[in-house]
Amino acid sequence: MKKVTLMAVAILFSAVTVFAAHTSTTVSDTSKTKKVKPVKVQYTCPMHPEVLSDKPGKCPKCGMTLVKKEPAKKKAEKMKM
Ligand SMILES: [Zn+2]
Repeated sequence: MKKVTLMAVAILFSAVTVFAAHTSTTVSDTSKTKKVKPVKVQYTCPMHPEVLSDKPGKCPKCGMTLVKKEPAKKKAEKMKM
């Protein structure tokens, strides 16, 4: 009886370990993807930064023409250091 319980625990443990490893792999993959420069250009409203669109158009809140969002701003902030 004890052997069966031990085996069950071992299988369960290995399953959890595999799941944890898979989860961490997925997380590291996501960070890797972040490093790659995205080709997609996003458009945002000058008055409403929360408004984001994949293609040019008009802000649904104020009707202003959406402008291209520059993704290089964050890098400039790091350069200051
Ligand atoms: Zn707007």
